[in-house]
Amino acid sequence: MKKYIAPVIMLAIFETIAVTLWLTKDNFFYFVNFTYIGCSIALGMFLYIKKYRYARRVVQLLVGLYMLIYLGFICGENMQIEGFWYYLFTGVFEAATIHYAVAKIFGPLIFGRGWCGYACWTAMVLDFLPYKVPSQPRKKLGWIRYITFALSIIFVSALFLAKAGNIERIMFWAFVSGNALYYVVGIVLAFVFKDNRAFCKYVCPITVFMKPMSYFALFRVKCRKDRCVDCGKCKRVCPMDVDVTDNSRKRKNGTECILCMECVKNCPKKAL
Ligand code: SF4
Ligand code: SF4
Ligand code: SF4
Repeated sequence: MKKYIAPVIMLAIFETIAVTLWLTKDNFFYFVNFTYIGCSIALGMFLYIKKYRYARRVVQLLVGLYMLIYLGFICGENMQIEGFWYYLFTGVFEAATIHYAVAKIFGPLIFGRGWCGYACWTAMVLDFLPYKVPSQPRKKLGWIRYITFALSIIFVSALFLAKAGNIERIMFWAFVSGNALYYVVGIVLAFVFKDNRAFCKYVCPITVFMKPMSYFALFRVKCRKDRCVDCGKCKRVCPMDVDVTDNSRKRKNGTECILCMECVKNCPKKAL
């Protein structure tokens, strides 16, 4: 039974968030929303423990499709970074701002970049592409993320400065077109660099929040040095080029780890 503690803890964390937000915001939606996400993640962890090969992909589809289709397209909530700025500037602490606070700003202090491995609807599609492991060395293009981050603030600020009418409608269409653009750029980059996660590594503006926060992550993969034989398999299967055998916080590309567990699954010595 001990091995099932992790999914139970994860479910408990999400239930705590669900109940807290439900009661403090007096909105039952938050209870349903975070319970659904917590159950999806706990289910994925359970399937992983049961050694189901596609456990992570199941969670990714359950959470990613729910957020993209239900919250985004049906409820009209802009859950992209522009939506976060929009609600932040208007002083509204509702769905998009709460989502960012939990999943992308403060959540990474606990579960690192788990969002990127298990919930992101952009990566949900990119992970179907053929280049699961990068075949080329990482490029020095990470600066692009700061440009896309700045552009997202400029876009929303411009709407306010121009006193644009019906900003809610504009934000909805920004969500639709922004997602379409992310998919096109993500797919093109994956084929150009032969790396499914090239978009995540170089372009995604959300990593500006997540990288520094995940540096302090509570949950991280660690290496048992007494078992490791330096075979290098973990680094060869890592989609994010993380040097997971280095246990220090300063490990190479440490803030890129998406907790996909490919290294853990492939280590022949069970050192991770
Ligand atoms: S880096 Fe961005 S696009 Fe990639 S998985 Fe994370 S949030 Fe999604
Ligand atoms: S795969 Fe396992 S044994 Fe090999 S280098 Fe990585 S941690 Fe060490
Ligand atoms: S393979 Fe290991 S080190 Fe690489 S992203 Fe996945 S969990 Fe992190």
